[in-house]
Amino acid sequence: MVQNGETNILVTRSSLPDFDEYVEEIRPVFESHWLTNMGQKHQQLEAQLRDYLGAEHVSLFANGHLALECCLQALGLEGEVITTPFTFISTTNAIVRSGLSPVFCDVKPDDLTLDPARIEEKITDRTCAIVPVHVYGSVCDVEAIERIARTHDLKLVYDAAHAFGVTVDGRPVGTFGDASMFSFHATKVFHTVEGGAVVTEDGALCERLALMKNFGITGPEEAVAAGGNAKLNEFSAAMGICNLRHIDDYIAARGRAVARYRERLGDVPGLRLIEPQPGVTPNHAYFPVLFEDEFGASRDDVFAALEQAGIGSRKYFFPLVSDFVCYRDTYDAAQTPVARDAAARVLTLPLYSDLELATVDAICDCVLGCRR
Ligand SMILES: *Cc1c(COP(=O)(O)O)cnc(C)c1O
Repeated sequence: MVQNGETNILVTRSSLPDFDEYVEEIRPVFESHWLTNMGQKHQQLEAQLRDYLGAEHVSLFANGHLALECCLQALGLEGEVITTPFTFISTTNAIVRSGLSPVFCDVKPDDLTLDPARIEEKITDRTCAIVPVHVYGSVCDVEAIERIARTHDLKLVYDAAHAFGVTVDGRPVGTFGDASMFSFHATKVFHTVEGGAVVTEDGALCERLALMKNFGITGPEEAVAAGGNAKLNEFSAAMGICNLRHIDDYIAARGRAVARYRERLGDVPGLRLIEPQPGVTPNHAYFPVLFEDEFGASRDDVFAALEQAGIGSRKYFFPLVSDFVCYRDTYDAAQTPVARDAAARVLTLPLYSDLELATVDAICDCVLGCRR
């Protein structure tokens, strides 16, 4: 099944509805000639996502990054934002591009989310917000973080790009904090090709978001803010409507692949997996594995062996955001040792909804074959 160079297994593969289903969904878009600007598909998807994500307000965006940027700007923040370096660079860039200063706080060794025990030591009189990330779909310690945010009067915005559909004791993950950003990029569990959303219980914030993504325009002859353009188009909204019909099947299929990975890799000395969290319904967004010294092969060895076998994997997240050229002169990764250690050891293995169990076995064989 997996032979040198012949079969290429990608680390991810976008879920797609049947072609005919999508064509039917975009037919009215063609007939109406209404292609963007909060059209009918946009409105329909927003309503369906309010339902699916259990949110009072959903504001759709052209992508997750702009959703987070607009949200930080709509909150009118100034000063320092406490966040994690163990994330996709988008989180940090959104903070910087909103005129704010990121302050990196370390993560917890068990699930690599922001460590609430380390947050308060980072708070100064300039701190205005906390931006934690539900990394790999693992839910942050939402209660502890909420308590800190309340005590110090800080805004709390979650990067929930990885956490679509996740619930905690039945409560949808997007209902924590002041707002949450979801990404609907083609590589995410639920996608609109490119797209994203801010989810919030705050109606006034949602109104400001509507301005931020449409030039600040309130009518044909009025603009009230220096907004940009971050609207989701009708073709993307139609893709979202189709994918939402199948999302529970997509997640269940990912769950079967994850179960097989856990079966094969769960009890191997030197392999560290992120454990399921009590009370959390997962979305199986990623399958990260951390290679401890005891395993006998480094993360980079395994990455190379997989590549040799035509199997894609990703050093996700390596390097730490604070180690990128644009940030390394300002920040010191030694300040976040748990995140730095994880970045050196982690590899995410292929995971997508039509990944076959036989392929999971072949991937596991290759990983385990690296042991010396
Ligand atoms: C994907 C992602 C983003 C950005 O979302 P886009 O839709 O690609 O703009 C932000 N943060 C994290 C953690 C992500 O994985």
